[in-house]
Amino acid sequence: MGKPLHVGIIGAGLAGLRCADVLLQSGMKVTILEARDRIGGRVCQSNVGGASVDLGAHPSGPNWIHGTQNNPLVEISERSNTITDSWDGPQATFDTAGKQLGPALCTKVADFMWMTIDRAFTLSQKDTANIPPSKSLLDFFKEELEKTGFSQLEKDACLELSKMWGGYIGSPIERQSLKFFYLEECLEGTNLFVASTYKNILQYIAKPALEGADIHLNEPVVAVDGKNRSSGTDSQVLVRTSAGKKYLFDEVVATFPLGWLKRNKAAFSPPIPQRLSEAIDNISYGQLEKIYVNFPATFWRNTDTPVTSPSFIFFSPTYVDHPPSPYWNQDCFSLADLPQSCAHPALLFYTYGACAEHVVSKISPYSPDSEEYYNILHDFLHPYFSRLPGYDAQSPLCRPTSFLATKWQSDSFAGNGSYSNFQVGLANGLADIETMREGMGADRGIWLAGEHTAPVVGLGTTTGAYWSGEEVAKRICDTLSKKN
Ligand SMILES: Cc1cc2nc3c(=O)[nH]c(=O)nc-3n(C[C@H](O)[C@H](O)[C@H](O)COP(=O)(O)OP(=O)(O)OC[C@H]3O[C@@H](n4cnc5c(N)ncnc54)[C@H](O)[C@@H]3O)c2cc1C
Repeated sequence: MGKPLHVGIIGAGLAGLRCADVLLQSGMKVTILEARDRIGGRVCQSNVGGASVDLGAHPSGPNWIHGTQNNPLVEISERSNTITDSWDGPQATFDTAGKQLGPALCTKVADFMWMTIDRAFTLSQKDTANIPPSKSLLDFFKEELEKTGFSQLEKDACLELSKMWGGYIGSPIERQSLKFFYLEECLEGTNLFVASTYKNILQYIAKPALEGADIHLNEPVVAVDGKNRSSGTDSQVLVRTSAGKKYLFDEVVATFPLGWLKRNKAAFSPPIPQRLSEAIDNISYGQLEKIYVNFPATFWRNTDTPVTSPSFIFFSPTYVDHPPSPYWNQDCFSLADLPQSCAHPALLFYTYGACAEHVVSKISPYSPDSEEYYNILHDFLHPYFSRLPGYDAQSPLCRPTSFLATKWQSDSFAGNGSYSNFQVGLANGLADIETMREGMGADRGIWLAGEHTAPVVGLGTTTGAYWSGEEVAKRICDTLSKKN
């Protein structure tokens, strides 16, 4: 009945926006401090295209909704008229020499790969305690391959294809912890490609916050001074911004990305408790980047047979000039295979690790509409798209019209990376996540949310970010109702 509690939320990504919604519904006053000039965080859209071609909006953060069962984003996508697609097109795999594998071998290696991924999930769930932290998913692949009667050529092809996993987590497969592989598992059900972009989903989730919260954009937070709840005094949390502004809140929800927390622990005062600090160090942060390549026409679909019209393509070249280690493989999707209204003649490449670092460092000085930018990305991707069926070096239809690449690793407000992942060496992964989820709310009034604090089946995803905001809001309400 008294004055409503005032909660400050740092960050207007999905976690912060959903948190605001639940807190507003509970009658609290909410202020959001967002560093960027827009809401959405890692969910954002950009336009791409040359002067003569309008290619529409592309999502440059997430593309997928991971798992349909009990996934709130599925319902939101339906309510917000978002077009999704359960991607089921034919796969093409190119060998290290750039030659497409025949259909039988392609199916055999793909079947082996998905079966091994399934087995690895089951093993890590059932036997996590007995798996050494140093064991990687790649080690497991190698062991499983030894149990098969495959020829050397087939084994080599399977090992190459296993590198595709890097495109899921943003780090090479030899860095993927087997012990904590189960933390990568998503909800049951199909993976949906968000064909019409996350735009409507974001607007739907943001609506309550846009209507009911006080949102300050362009307000990077640089310091958060917690309260001392145990002292019994009714202190507040002080938040300071880079422009020198000060805000006082009864509670604060910090949705800084994990990568930001790793680099800015000193922003918190009193210092972050040791166990939380260790947890922030222990969980890793991936470096997934995406490159869109637009063409005048879908030349790779000029033939009728499904095998030569691939919609998911995997390249693992040794013929490209690059440092001997690590490898330069790419996963690629044909956006021509999206539902009719969203289909366009474009390829979407996922790149990660050292290769992504290389691309971002090369393009960083240039604007996306500059000739230099075009030439760098053209030279980088030509060895890949030129292997596709239907490619003709002389045809203008095979010459890209434009490129657009993400640069999350140079974006400090995205934590200089993509999302959390679980790498070899991790000894107490689940406990680390639980510690981050706990945050410093109970003692200092500083709660953490974001994809890195999500329930296990949502870690690293948009759904997880949404859930984490919801959960932390409920915990704040519970704590305060117990107190009163
Ligand atoms: C390339 C890429 C591909 C992805 N693909 C998928 C996918 O297909 N499916 C999927 O489910 N997920 C995917 N993800 C992950 C998904 O985007 C994230 O898990 C989710 O968007 C994270 O939401 P969040 O609210 O936790 O964090 P964010 O969206 O990062 O929100 C945090 C907010 O805090 C703000 N902020 C940061 N620092 C400060 C500061 N100092 N002061 C004030 N504000 C600050 C940021 O600007 C941001 O708005 C992908 C991510 C990337 C980068």
